[in-house]
Amino acid sequence: MSTSSPSAVPASLRRVVAVALKTDAPDPQTGRVVELCALARLGDDPPAPLEPHPRPASPAAAWEGILAAAPPDAVWIVHDADPASRALQRLAPGGREVAFADTALLARICFPTLTDYDLPALCRALKLGAPPEPAPAALCAATLRLWSRLCQRAAQLPHPLPQELTALFSPTRDGPLRAFFRAFADARRAAPALDELYGKAALPPRRQLALPEVHAPLDPQSVAALFAAGGALAAALRGYEPRPEQSAMAHAVAEAFNAGRLLLVEAGTGVGKSLAYLAPAALWSAHNEWPVVVSTSTKNLQAQLIEKDLPLLARALRAEIKAAVLKGRRNYLCLRKLLFALRHGLSDFDRAQRLRLAAVLVWSTATATGDIAECWAAAAVAGGVNDDVTCAAGECHGPRCALRARCFLHRARRRALAADIVIANHAVVLSDLAAGEGGGVLPDYRHLILDEAHNLEAAATAAFSVEVSVRHLGYLLHRLWRAAGRRGGHGLIPLLARQLERSPGPLSAEACAACSQFLGRAATDLQTLWTAADRFFAALAERLPPAADRGALRIRADRMLPSEWHAARAAKETFVAAMAAVVRGLDGALQILNRDESAAGRFEDFTLPLRAIAEELRAFMTDVDFVLRAEGEDFVYWIERLPPRFGHAAAWAAPLRVGPRLFDDLYAKKEAVVFTSATLSVNGSLAYVRKRLGVDLAAPERVAEVVLGSPFEYPRQCLALTPTFLPEPDDGQGGYAEALGCLLADVFRRTRGRAMALFTSYDMLQRTAAVLRRRMADDGFPILVQGDSGSREAILEAFKTNGAAILLGTHSFWEGVDVIGEALSCLVVARLPFAVFTDPIMEARAEQVEAEGESAFMGFSLPNAVIKLRQGFGRLIRSRTDRGIVIIADRRIVAKRYGQWFCRSLPVSVRPMPDRAELLRCIETFFAEAPAAPPPADAAAG
Ligand code: SF4
Repeated sequence: MSTSSPSAVPASLRRVVAVALKTDAPDPQTGRVVELCALARLGDDPPAPLEPHPRPASPAAAWEGILAAAPPDAVWIVHDADPASRALQRLAPGGREVAFADTALLARICFPTLTDYDLPALCRALKLGAPPEPAPAALCAATLRLWSRLCQRAAQLPHPLPQELTALFSPTRDGPLRAFFRAFADARRAAPALDELYGKAALPPRRQLALPEVHAPLDPQSVAALFAAGGALAAALRGYEPRPEQSAMAHAVAEAFNAGRLLLVEAGTGVGKSLAYLAPAALWSAHNEWPVVVSTSTKNLQAQLIEKDLPLLARALRAEIKAAVLKGRRNYLCLRKLLFALRHGLSDFDRAQRLRLAAVLVWSTATATGDIAECWAAAAVAGGVNDDVTCAAGECHGPRCALRARCFLHRARRRALAADIVIANHAVVLSDLAAGEGGGVLPDYRHLILDEAHNLEAAATAAFSVEVSVRHLGYLLHRLWRAAGRRGGHGLIPLLARQLERSPGPLSAEACAACSQFLGRAATDLQTLWTAADRFFAALAERLPPAADRGALRIRADRMLPSEWHAARAAKETFVAAMAAVVRGLDGALQILNRDESAAGRFEDFTLPLRAIAEELRAFMTDVDFVLRAEGEDFVYWIERLPPRFGHAAAWAAPLRVGPRLFDDLYAKKEAVVFTSATLSVNGSLAYVRKRLGVDLAAPERVAEVVLGSPFEYPRQCLALTPTFLPEPDDGQGGYAEALGCLLADVFRRTRGRAMALFTSYDMLQRTAAVLRRRMADDGFPILVQGDSGSREAILEAFKTNGAAILLGTHSFWEGVDVIGEALSCLVVARLPFAVFTDPIMEARAEQVEAEGESAFMGFSLPNAVIKLRQGFGRLIRSRTDRGIVIIADRRIVAKRYGQWFCRSLPVSVRPMPDRAELLRCIETFFAEAPAAPPPADAAAG
């Protein structure tokens, strides 16, 4: 257990009273206080209860007694102050109001990378002893221990963080927070400038990228031999067992690199596909001094590549493999924006934003990567300060930035420039295409590996879509100006206006006045723009069917009757004109500021974001026009209802086909592209995915395909059953969920929990969960339900660690769940995962397939569902020792002819079970059988 050194804690913080209470309702905001405790630690004395004598009869009297007994100079602390202080005020109306230092808020600031700020979680994470029982006395003691740890941490903060944090909380009512940091700031008055805290670590040498005239080809046989018995992998990994599929894949990737091919590789679970492509990629890069980009769809896979696969490969090859992870710009902290926010923007932030900014500030001096996702205390809260402190292309000062040598993004890019393997995600690869030459974050590259390629179409659809909504517009407008009571406004416009007034620098009085006039006009026009935006989106919402009907309406130029669309079009014209007026005001001010070179330099922290916002508003105007015209043949357009607080409605355009653009902008420009996943084929063929991803557009001789099965012994490891006695999931009577829930209760008793059920709709999940909770109330298996039991990560963690839990999840659980071992012994697929055709994109794509002469069902809907089912199915068997059953609770898989497509795409045959008792007997027998001994090794499953 950590304790603070008393000398590290300023005297003013060493006399403390911790308070904890219990209410008669789960929410202390509304409940009545039924138990109360206060524990005082005064200087070096051990903690002692602050208990009035005689013991008071009621909590109100106890609180009065505590207030009277507490030393007047003590700091009052409580964990999670808001609800506690409200409950205490209700306890003694009109009584003394206590200003508590909130240890939960202080923990967010002092330990910003923790993921949970509950007191028990903090006790665990900070090793403060056993998590407290939920009794006030234990909570008080834990709060005191936490306080000591917070003091210890604050004493270690580098200069001048305590001073900066004091300033950050000075204008707010957070007296205790201000006093806390001031106690540490006072102790050391002389402090370096904040920007000096950010080290200038030596940057890796820049690799001179010039396309070699002649590639040094790989020897595919030698690459494949790395995976053979007695090969380099076998020497590096104890228990490694050669898998012919892995060698074959490495061979195919090496050949694709040599020949500049588009290679599609389906590699079943357990092949070890990541090593099979990393080995040729690393060798290619070493031979040719040219980086290879590996793109994934999930963070988990990125972590696996960096933490597990690449170090193993480096050991096997006895060579250093330089790898770098690159995210999109907006993931990195921009030090210049952070300092600007602290210097100029303080008056601009509300209390919540200040708290998050404080967490970012503390984290910024400790992080090695600058990846804002590390700073949970800021990232986990919606509407945080992230946009005010992260990099944006148009706002970067580039080589002129005084902080460039310390810039996280710049350093990440330099690392990528020097790397052999650059790991990114599909969104980064695709947004780099849109950014064009020099505008992206990735270094120039010629060879690309797209892992989890079954998600590429969805990623490209998101990247190439256009959204017109208040969400995006509101963010831009709020950065410009937002009302702040009688004191005027917050945002870049009033900040710049105040700066011009106070310190115009080289600008003449006339120029200042003219600039202020433009800014004032832009601020006035902003009010008009808000009104126009509201009317425009409300007019769109009026075009939608009543709220009870489906929320989306597809639009197309030839179906938009002028009589029906007159009001929306008129509202659009007013909206666009209002936006143009704001842009004119910004352009006018920018012109004056940029006229004089020294003025341009002096006000650059304002002009760059203003210009970037003006550009974004111009793009927004183009988008509004594009979406509302709804003319493009290659797009699907629709509007969708939103709650009024989110702007009534939003409009979208999404590409019908992403393949042509992927081909033109990616495949045609790169030498070799490898697409890989465990689930690319449908009915044994890669034709569907080839077509959807535009690989078909390449010359046939440039395309290669390999389908490699899994080395797992599915018939030994797994049993797939379909209860045909259940009603069809689409019966619409609600009978399916009841019947499914009743069956699953019996099944899960036999599997002793250890089960995950995958649903295609949240409604069905909830109805089934209700039945299970009712019928399994006394069985003792935790039932974890998506939406009710915490975040996806928390649910998965609880599922893995409990070992007997039941998990019910929808779409996000169909892939990326990797539970090795007995904790997942039963997988249920509640319904064949056909897409819902109320989704405008899926509906329009199905129509398009039909228009091309193919059946929408066979040519689109079915293959999509087959790939998704295979993804879901793949959650069960993750290693050679895993065993389990799969229940596909949709009898259509055996009753319909198309069911054969699903069955043929699965690695085991699906047994129809017409009888409930027989099904349960099968399950019992499966789990009663001693598992046949698995083969000895179980290397990387990916
Ligand atoms: S180089 Fe650009 S992103 Fe980096 S700190 Fe400077 S302004 Fe920010």
